[in-house]
Amino acid sequence: MKQFAAALFLASTVVAQPFHSMVAYPDLGSYFDGPIQAASVWVPHTVVQWPAGSLPSSCAVQMASRGCSPSQVQVYNVTYEDCDRPWVFCRCENAPVHIGRTADLFGRLPVHMRSMVRHPMIVPNPNSNCCCAAPDDGDLMVAGDCPMSIFAHEVGHLIDNRGDVFGQDYSSKAAFVNALATDTCSISNYGNTAGRHEEFAEMSVVVLYNMNTGLLPAVAPSATTGCFDNQLNTIKTRFGSQYYAYGGTCVNRAADSPTVSASLRARVRREHLVGRSGWCRFN
Ligand SMILES: [Zn+2]
Repeated sequence: MKQFAAALFLASTVVAQPFHSMVAYPDLGSYFDGPIQAASVWVPHTVVQWPAGSLPSSCAVQMASRGCSPSQVQVYNVTYEDCDRPWVFCRCENAPVHIGRTADLFGRLPVHMRSMVRHPMIVPNPNSNCCCAAPDDGDLMVAGDCPMSIFAHEVGHLIDNRGDVFGQDYSSKAAFVNALATDTCSISNYGNTAGRHEEFAEMSVVVLYNMNTGLLPAVAPSATTGCFDNQLNTIKTRFGSQYYAYGGTCVNRAADSPTVSASLRARVRREHLVGRSGWCRFN
């Protein structure tokens, strides 16, 4: 029943009317992909592959749902210099992206954003989705060669769903709803038309860049400078130093999904899927 309700809710957000007639950065990536990577902090890290034969349970489930059997999943401990506990990455052997590139891009997020993620997964890419997030368990799925801004967008979904009160989307609460309504623009075409969750996730890219540089790219000619300031200030005030600033060490990380044998395919079950619509909850 909960899953049914969630599916209805998501369906309703997809057909939502635009929030505003003005949009600051119509295609967010074209404004932020370069600058956000240039402003990022690279963290030294090591990548150590697990011996074949076992993998995290959630990797088995998510990979299997994309046609990648547990025995095809490569597992890696990626240990960044700013956290003593590795992130356990999973990669399908026929996925289009290398572990090294994904570990590098993920590591360019502030450690407090990384701390929201349980398992980064590099999955096959059978459709056009580049990346998606499963906020109910914190897993992050990369299905294409996503730029860093997409990683920031997806972690934004995790912060939205888990950063305030677990399971209560901040983007649905009065503070954000009112900020968006008071602003005179939406941040991007996607945020403007795909629901408040996506507007928040798009804003996450902007907040990450602005928190650490004090800068913003010039808005589109059709938009007004400062038209999204209420959203920007609301998110920075509530979550800025807690998640979007560089520095510090990992905190409050979720426990890894239990390790299972790669041969126990029959035991692979869907887990923690309440609230998730389809393979991932958000793109
Ligand atoms: Zn999204």
